[in-house]
Amino acid sequence: MKFLKITSLATVAALAGNMAAAQERFITIGTGGQTGVYFVVGQSICRLVNRGSGDHGLKCTAPSTGGSIANINAIKAGDMDMGVAQSDWQFHAFNGSSQFEGAGFDKLRAVFSVHGEPFTVVARTDSGVASFDDLFGKRVNVGNPGSGQRATMDVVLGAMGKSADDFALASELKPAEQSAALGDNKVDAIIYTVGHPNGSIQEATSTVDATLVPVTGDAIETLVNDNPYYAKATIPGGMYKGTDGDVETFGVKATFVTSADVEDDVVYTVVKAVFDNFDRFKGLHPAFANLSEEEMIADGLSAPLHPGAEKYYRERGWLN
Ligand code: GLU
Repeated sequence: MKFLKITSLATVAALAGNMAAAQERFITIGTGGQTGVYFVVGQSICRLVNRGSGDHGLKCTAPSTGGSIANINAIKAGDMDMGVAQSDWQFHAFNGSSQFEGAGFDKLRAVFSVHGEPFTVVARTDSGVASFDDLFGKRVNVGNPGSGQRATMDVVLGAMGKSADDFALASELKPAEQSAALGDNKVDAIIYTVGHPNGSIQEATSTVDATLVPVTGDAIETLVNDNPYYAKATIPGGMYKGTDGDVETFGVKATFVTSADVEDDVVYTVVKAVFDNFDRFKGLHPAFANLSEEEMIADGLSAPLHPGAEKYYRERGWLN
């Protein structure tokens, strides 16, 4: 009798343990380099999600990755649940165009957009580079493979009838390495599609005399006019040492994406954690300060909204 009782208690305990385990769900968010803003986006979302883990069972991690293209590919492969990606690469991945030709991802789903990301060129003052055209024949870090900037750089070069071969050197260092390379005179210029202000450009411009270079001209006009995911952008003067005036360029939006295969309640919980705590979220990085809910659920999104996100936006009355 005693023996039976112990057995049944053990069974009950084992069952309860299994139930708790079943309710726990780990999610991974793809970000970018540790000195970029995507890393902060992912870490901030996870921080808000993990505050409620005791209630909903979701546990979120946001490791550093190669950036936009790497994140989309990891979501497509099922290795990650969500990630941050530039609006141009969200478009091309969903539509199977540009770099994603023949490798489209029609299950890609939009969740929301975040901050704007100007295509940013920083050049050493002693390189004499004052415009994008001046880069040809110079040593340029064109971005690490898997990053949004590496892929967008190819689009920009293509629009100008050029390629990376037109640089004296086209290195592919990661964001965390390229600022040091600029300071050490290993390259004349670096490019980064990134929200401002950010630590990486701050590091680059405070270790050596360097300035932000405008990215303008006919090819850029055409890119912006022909493609909904590009827009003109201005990097305000005074943000970085050496650049007091506004700098004209073009840019994209950082967007938060997932797969149609990710459960509705998981995406709903993540979206709810962000927008129920929106003021807190906006306080986590200066690039988030001017975000508005209205823009975030519409701008820069070309893949369909994930149903879990839509459900929350309807509840808030933001969608019909
Ligand atoms: N836009 C970059 C990319 O797609 C990342 C910028 C960041 O890490 O903030 O790879």
